[in-house]
Amino acid sequence: MNTRIDPAALEAAEAAPPSHDASDPTLLARMIEAGILVETGEDGIYGRSAAFEDVLERLSVAVTLLGADQNAEVLRFPPALRRRDFEDSEYLKSFPDLAGTIHAFQGNDADHRRLLAALDATIAAGDGERSDEWMDQQKPTRLVFTPAACYPIYPVIARRGALPEGGATFDVFSYCFRHEPSVDPSRMQMFRMREFVRLGSPGDVMTFREKWIERGSAFVKMLGLPFDIDLANDPFFGRGGKIVANSQREQQLKFELVIPVATPGRPTACLSFNYHMDHFGTLWKIDCANGDVAHSACVAFGMERTTLALFRHHGLDVRAWPDGVRALLWGDTQAAIDAALR
Ligand code: 5GP
Ligand code: ZN
Repeated sequence: MNTRIDPAALEAAEAAPPSHDASDPTLLARMIEAGILVETGEDGIYGRSAAFEDVLERLSVAVTLLGADQNAEVLRFPPALRRRDFEDSEYLKSFPDLAGTIHAFQGNDADHRRLLAALDATIAAGDGERSDEWMDQQKPTRLVFTPAACYPIYPVIARRGALPEGGATFDVFSYCFRHEPSVDPSRMQMFRMREFVRLGSPGDVMTFREKWIERGSAFVKMLGLPFDIDLANDPFFGRGGKIVANSQREQQLKFELVIPVATPGRPTACLSFNYHMDHFGTLWKIDCANGDVAHSACVAFGMERTTLALFRHHGLDVRAWPDGVRALLWGDTQAAIDAALR
């Protein structure tokens, strides 16, 4: 671990068991076999059973309690962004390969006939490789999929005018889309992300991030999971991407809490702690009360990944999970969180 962050903030992380390769590449098959996840035929898109959703929702309740002192404004959006906001966000500079745009039929009767003819040809291919010719009739809508839960909020906050004195904190939750089909269950194409987002002065947002590295670590320790805090290695696109990734690491803009889940030889980022500097503040023209450009930071909880990590380490039968974890998720969650925060 290499960090310029206050060492006290990382105390909880250092007290945790050392990370070792406890990843299990058979996890997805076992969860499907047990009916906890449901195959759709498409890598990275799974149905969730009641057992999976129960754990995920209880985790979400625990995250809410973990952040209860943040005075965060709850904001929920459907998993789509205005295309124009997405264009302005610069996401396509970094991750053009992950973005998902939304298209729809917007033609006339003749176009409809062309659509149906192309569709007949597609379906005639049966189980073979299908043509995508019918999609020629699909045109861009004004929407794209949300790539990260915090994206919809910046333009909305900007429209409100300057931040209040002391900045502002938001609690967001969204299904997110990333086009990266994979047989690794911890790399889904659609997954839920829970975030707390802080906007304010550089000092405010750095303090927030340190607090959440500490809190996130304490939380995952309570969940009985082995983890490490590492500098992140985001998959920035293209040849220039390597330079951006190096700069992100040099400036320590992003840390991740990693847990061995299903990827052989590599633990999976289940929480991330991001410092955006004034990137979003400048893009969206968000100012602090004193007129300075707002800095921002966010802590993101990968809900599916953390749920998968629990099934990986504690087994597929939740009734057999360790007492402490059961007490946290199915018992007096508030008391367990209060104890951890003390
Ligand atoms: P980030 O924006 O840092 O890439 O993602 C934030 C969090 O979302 C990650 O820490 C992780 O927990 C979750 N996440 C990112 N990508 C994926 C993915 O492909 N599948 C799933 N299930 N979760 C992801
Ligand atoms: Zn975020």
